[in-house]
Amino acid sequence: RKADVECAVLVLGAGPGGYTAAFRAADLGMDTVLVERYPSLGGVCLNVGCIPSKALLHAAAVIGEASHAGDFGIDFGTPKIDLDKLRDYKDKVVGQLTKGLVGMAKQRKVRVVAGVGRFVSAYELQVDDGEGKSQLVRFEQCIIAAGSQAVKLPGFPWDDPRVMDSTDALELADVPSKLLVVGGGIIGLEMATVYRALGSEVTVVEFMDQLMPGADRDLVKPLADRLKKQGVAVHLKTKAAKVEAQKKGLKVGFEPAEEGGEAPEAQLYDRVLVAVGRSPNGGKLDAGKAGVEVNERGFIPVDRQMRTSARHIFAIGDLVGNPMLAHKATHEGKLAAEVAAGEKKEWVARVIPSVAYTDPEIAWVGVTEAEAKEKGLDVGVGKFPWAASGRAIGIGRTEGFTKLLFDRATQRIIGGGIVGVHAGDLIAEVALAIEMGCEVGDIGHTIHPHPTLSESVAMAAEVFDGTITDLY
Ligand code: FAD
Repeated sequence: RKADVECAVLVLGAGPGGYTAAFRAADLGMDTVLVERYPSLGGVCLNVGCIPSKALLHAAAVIGEASHAGDFGIDFGTPKIDLDKLRDYKDKVVGQLTKGLVGMAKQRKVRVVAGVGRFVSAYELQVDDGEGKSQLVRFEQCIIAAGSQAVKLPGFPWDDPRVMDSTDALELADVPSKLLVVGGGIIGLEMATVYRALGSEVTVVEFMDQLMPGADRDLVKPLADRLKKQGVAVHLKTKAAKVEAQKKGLKVGFEPAEEGGEAPEAQLYDRVLVAVGRSPNGGKLDAGKAGVEVNERGFIPVDRQMRTSARHIFAIGDLVGNPMLAHKATHEGKLAAEVAAGEKKEWVARVIPSVAYTDPEIAWVGVTEAEAKEKGLDVGVGKFPWAASGRAIGIGRTEGFTKLLFDRATQRIIGGGIVGVHAGDLIAEVALAIEMGCEVGDIGHTIHPHPTLSESVAMAAEVFDGTITDLY
């Protein structure tokens, strides 16, 4: 069959990994085609992930701030929430960014082919538009960036609209009186934060023995305390075992995660949000027909240049492995495009920061304290409580803290964690420190502006194991 479209590079999927790869490839002079099944570019992150969730979290933060203003003598009263306007605001934010991508694609002459792509050979992808039209795209090289989708727990009545995944929850159909969030990870807790601020009574169940598994426990505590204060019920070591759709609501039965443990009684909820993780889309692309290996979990294994088992086909983003984060996908996208263009590069990033945009935010990068202990590393820990920060006191948010982990032998920073407002912005300095092989004294010696929360990073560099040191 004759190809309908021919190109030097085909990028499959227009999420943050895919559009970054396509734009970079075009900037490097390659004739580029971007295939996307959804009507708008931007993938999960822009349409139903990072961006809409942060727009809604901003609204939640404003409600939270306003409710504390009474502490310094300002009373805004009870917030009146116009859900339609809030939804419009979120959609406008998303629209502005996705339309921006269309412009950027045009500017670079990246051709966008709409439809679902499947490989038919090592150099061909068939794209079906869902209305009976199919196009054959022939490529010299390909970058697969087809992302991931929410895990749908089996046994839940998914055809009932009251059972939601994160995409449904972001649609903001209503503010349920009683919301159950299954999964106390980043996405579950961000959505719990939004719905609690909007007025829902929220319960969170988490299978593991702490919220935000993967983050150090001490970082999670200020968030757990605040959720408790806000009346969010949290059940750890618990699983939502079955959900029965009833007229009055969804009846959810719980079971302890371990035998002999305790679990709450079955309860009725107006809506249930399932946020128990995401699974890669690698298995849905007929990748085998292109000679691309996909593992049993649906991930596509890649080397340090993002090449798959077929050397002319690269894979990036959520479908190559954890952590499933937009900034990892964009970094990989750029790298894959540059290697495809002939540059001799490979993955050299040492660390990828993680951020939960909850209230307070939790951010961590590099080695965690728990990992350091597990591996028996000889680490020093510098920890600065925000209760001693002038800025944190001024804004009434002293529950946070900043900690740095450094290798005692080399003095180099190897990890860090921050909990508090704007922790996500603050963690970038620690990521840079690790990438640059910075010694803890370098941070302590760098003059940070006063009074800012960023000073807490410098202060953490000066307080090791609870005592102020004069190491330098
Ligand atoms: P995706 O964004 O998943 O894009 C893949 C694209 O490929 C999609 O547009 C899809 O339609 C398309 N596609 C798939 N298969 C085909 C096919 N066969 N044919 C054509 N097109 C196809 N990450 C952060 O870093 N920060 C955050 O704050 C954050 N918040 C999040 C909040 C939520 C609620 C969710 C769900 C995720 C969040 N993430 C966040 C994760 C982030 O969205 C992902 O890591 C990121 O989108 C991955 O990018 P990607 O390019 O790999 O894939």
